[in-house]
Amino acid sequence: MRDTELLRGLLRVEDPWDVTESMLDLERSRVDVRLEWKGPGRCPSCGRECPKHDHRERTWRDLDLCGDQLFFHALVPRVDCAEHAVVTVAIPWSAGRSEFTERFERITIALIREMSVAAVSRRMAVSWDQVDAIMMRAVERGRTRQQPRLVRNLGIDEKAIKKGHRYFTLVADLDAGVVLFVGHGRKRATIDAFWAGLSREQLAAVEGVAMDMWQPYFRFDHGLRSRRSEQDRLRSFSRDGISYEGR
Ligand SMILES: [Zn+2]
Repeated sequence: MRDTELLRGLLRVEDPWDVTESMLDLERSRVDVRLEWKGPGRCPSCGRECPKHDHRERTWRDLDLCGDQLFFHALVPRVDCAEHAVVTVAIPWSAGRSEFTERFERITIALIREMSVAAVSRRMAVSWDQVDAIMMRAVERGRTRQQPRLVRNLGIDEKAIKKGHRYFTLVADLDAGVVLFVGHGRKRATIDAFWAGLSREQLAAVEGVAMDMWQPYFRFDHGLRSRRSEQDRLRSFSRDGISYEGR
C-alpha cells in the first residue's frame, strides 16, 4: 500500500479529494500532507458541476500523528456557479476559515471541559488566541445546532480564556461525555440560549444539572426547577465537588 493511499484512509479523505503527497520531517516532528481536488468543479450548495474560477492555497493543522504535528495543505478551488456565484468547493475536514480540522477543534473543546485553557494550550500546542478562536467558532456552531437527542444529565462549566476578561460557558452531556453547546459569556442569558434551542421533549428529559455554584447559574437552576416543578423529577446529589441541583 502506498503512503498516500494509507493516509487517505487514515485521515478519512473522500472523493473528489485525494491525498497526493506526504512528507515526514523527523527533525521538526511534523508530517505534511498534500490534498488535491480531483475532477470537475462542483458547487457546495446545489451540487451542480461548474467551471473553476480560481484557487487558494490553504493549510490546516490536524490531530497529531504518533506524536508528530500533522498539517494538511491544499490548493482549494473556487467555482463559478450560475445560481450561487463564486463559491469555495466543499471542504469536509474543516469549516469556514479555520486553520484547524474539525477533529482538532472537537478534541480541543472536549479538553477545555477537563482542564484550564493554559493546560489545553500546552497540551495541544496552540496559543491562547487560537483556543479563543476555536471557542468562538464553537459558539457559532452552538447557536445554530439543533439538539436532536434526549440528554438526562447535563454539566455546565464556565471557562476563562483571560481571567476577568473573556468567559465561555460549556454545556455537556455527562453520560456521553460530549460537549453539546458553547456559549459566549457566563451569564444567565448564556445558558438561556442553550435551553431555548431544546424542544419541549428534550427539556422534559433532563433529570439532573451539574454546575459550579456560580450565582447566575444558581439562579437559573431555580428557574429550571420552577419550570419543571410539576414534573417532580429533578434529583439532588453531589459528586467530585460538583453540585447537582434538583429534588
Ligand atoms: Zn450552486
